Amino acid sequence: MANPISERVRIFPASGTYNNAHGSGVFSVLHAETIRLDVDGTFPQMMASGSYMRTLARIAKPTYWIAYPLKEVGYGIWEGPIYGLWGDASLIPHNTVRIHVPPISSYRLVGSGPPMTVTFSGGPPAVTRVLEFFSPDFREVTVEYDTVQDSPRVTSINTCAHLNHPPSLRCENLTFDNVFGRAGVGISQSQRRSIVPLEVAGGDSAWSDAELDDAMHRYWSTYSDAPDWAIWVLFAGKHERATRLGSMFDLSDANQRQGCAVFNQNIDDYVPSNYPQRPEHLARMRFYDLVHETGHCFNLHHAELTYNIQLQWPFWNDITSYPTFMNYPEHVSDFWGKFEYRFHDSELKFLRHAPDNLVEMGDAPFYGGDPLFEPDDGKAPRPWKLDVALHRPQGVFEFLEPVTLVATLTNTSQHPQIIDEAVLEDGGNFALVIARMDGRTRFWRPFVQRCFLPTPRVLESQQTLSASFFVGSGLDGWYFAEPGAYMLQGVLKTPETTIATNPLPLRIAHPRSWDEEVVAQNFFTRDVGRALAFGAAPSRSGVIKTLREVVERLPDRAVSRHAALALAQGVMRGHRILRTASNEERGFSLIPADHEEARRLFQCALFDNPSAAAESLGGEAYRRETERYAAYLKQSGAAQIKGPRPQPRNRKK
Ligand SMILES: [Zn+2]
Repeated sequence: MANPISERVRIFPASGTYNNAHGSGVFSVLHAETIRLDVDGTFPQMMASGSYMRTLARIAKPTYWIAYPLKEVGYGIWEGPIYGLWGDASLIPHNTVRIHVPPISSYRLVGSGPPMTVTFSGGPPAVTRVLEFFSPDFREVTVEYDTVQDSPRVTSINTCAHLNHPPSLRCENLTFDNVFGRAGVGISQSQRRSIVPLEVAGGDSAWSDAELDDAMHRYWSTYSDAPDWAIWVLFAGKHERATRLGSMFDLSDANQRQGCAVFNQNIDDYVPSNYPQRPEHLARMRFYDLVHETGHCFNLHHAELTYNIQLQWPFWNDITSYPTFMNYPEHVSDFWGKFEYRFHDSELKFLRHAPDNLVEMGDAPFYGGDPLFEPDDGKAPRPWKLDVALHRPQGVFEFLEPVTLVATLTNTSQHPQIIDEAVLEDGGNFALVIARMDGRTRFWRPFVQRCFLPTPRVLESQQTLSASFFVGSGLDGWYFAEPGAYMLQGVLKTPETTIATNPLPLRIAHPRSWDEEVVAQNFFTRDVGRALAFGAAPSRSGVIKTLREVVERLPDRAVSRHAALALAQGVMRGHRILRTASNEERGFSLIPADHEEARRLFQCALFDNPSAAAESLGGEAYRRETERYAAYLKQSGAAQIKGPRPQPRNRKK
C-alpha cells in the first residue's frame, strides 16, 4: 500500500488536457474524447470542458460540454453540474460530471501524468471513462513572428521598469509566451522568421489592411486556407490610419483571425513627448499591443463590448473597468497602476474552454463585439428604445416568487415606423441576460420558441409594443432560485438592429420561514416551472402535490397565488390522460373539468385579497387573469355553480 502522506503531496497541478488519443485496443477507435480540467495551477477557473465524438460517424461534429462550477469533493476529486452543451446533446445526456485525478506525483517523472477517471451521472445510467494525461496546457498554438525591416520587435517586458505599476505586481522579465502560458495556452515559436521588405507596404510606407493581408499570404511560411492553431504576427512601423496602434487585420475572408500586426511607429507617435518615463512606457505599450492583437486572433473582443448571443457562450462578464489586455488603457482609470499583465477570468474561461471552433484561428469568423453593455446614452439616433420592467418595487421579489418581466419597445423617432407585431414574442429575437454579482452569467431560455408569421404593423412616434415573459424558469431550470442580487439585461436582435436595455437590478429575498425552505426542495424543478408557464396538467401528480402544498402552507405568500392559478388552469377544462397501470386496458381516460375547484382556486388567487394579488402578479397580468376568468365563467356556465362569488363587479349580474 502506498504511503498515505506522500500520496497527499501533489507536486504538479492536476489541471491540463486529457484525452483518449493514445488509447490502444478496439475502444479507442469508437470515440475521440478530450477533457480540460481547470482547478489548480495559474488562475484556476473551477471549470472543466470536454469534446466527445463518435469516430465511426466520420462526418459528425464533436459535442462540447462545460461543467461549472466544480467543487473539490474529495482529495483529487472534483464534481460539478454540466452548465452548457453544444452539438448533439444525446452524446452527453447526463447532468453531472465527477473527475478524479489521483495525486501521485511520480507519474510525471516518467514523462506523463496520472490518468483521469471521469464519471457522467444524473439522468441516464452513469458512464465512467478513463483518459490519459496529454498536456498541462489547454491549447497549443504556433506563432510566427515576421518583422518589417528596421522595425523593433518587443516580445517581452520588464514589468517593474515603469514605476507606475501595481505594488503587488511581480517584478520579472515577462515574455509573450509566459503571458499565454499562464492563460493556459502553450505557445511554440515557429523557427521560420522572415524579414518583410518595406516596399510591400506600397509607396507611402504605411500599411493598409489589404497590404497586410497580402504580406501574410506571401511571407507566412505555413499559411493555410483552413482552420489551424497558428498565428502570424508582423512587427511593422506605420498603419495608414494613424490611430491604429495594432491591428488584427484578418477579418474579411472565409478563414479569419490568423494574422495581426503591431505598429511601432504609430505607438511612438501616439504617446505624448512628456509622458513620464516615456521609453519604458513605450516598451510596455508595444508589449500590451502584441498580446492584445493576438487576443483578437483567439476571438476575444474588446472588454467594453459584449458577447455574441449566437455563440451561446454564457461566461462573458461586463468587465468595462477591469484592466485586462483586452481593454483599452484609456478606458480604465489608472489602467497601468492596476494592470497585472493578465486576462480577466471570463476571458480565460473562453480561451481555455470554449468549443474549439469558436477559438481556433481560421474557424468561426471574428466577433468584434456588440456595444450591448453600452447604456443607451440617447446620442445615437436610433428609432427604437427597449425597456424591461419588473412589477415589484426596486425589483425585490419574495423567495419562491415566480418572476415575470415586461419588455417594451418604443418608437422614439419623430416618424411612424413599421415593425413586426410579434417582434418581441417571436422565438429567438428577445434574449435576457441574467448576471449574478459574482460574475456568473446565464441566458434565459424559454420553454417554447414561438414562431409567428410576419405581421407588419405601423407604430406612430412614441407608440409602444410590449410583451410579458415568465422568466423565472425555462429550459435550464430556475434562474432565480437563490436569494441575492441579480442584474438583468434585455437584448432584442432583429436583422435590422440590435437594441439592449440598461441593466436592471433584481433581488430575491431570503426565505422567511422554515416552511419555505422545505417547499423549495420540491418547487425548483423543471416540471413545476413548466406548470407555472402553461398550467398544471392533472396527470402530473407530483407537480400537483407540490403546488397544493404551496397553496396550503404558504397562503399569504406571492407564490401561492401563482400556484393557485396554475392549478386552476389544470381543472377548468377536461383532460385526456394515458392509462399506464398494468391492470388497466391501455387507452385514454378523460378527466372532466372541475368547475367548483377552478372557482375556488381563482378566488384564492385573485379575489381573496385583490390588492395583494395585483401586487404579486403585476397589474397587467392581474387584469389579464381576471378577464380570462370572466370569459371562462361565461363560456363554461361555471357561474351557475354554487360557490364563492368572484370580483365585486361580477356581483351586479
Ligand atoms: Zn483591439
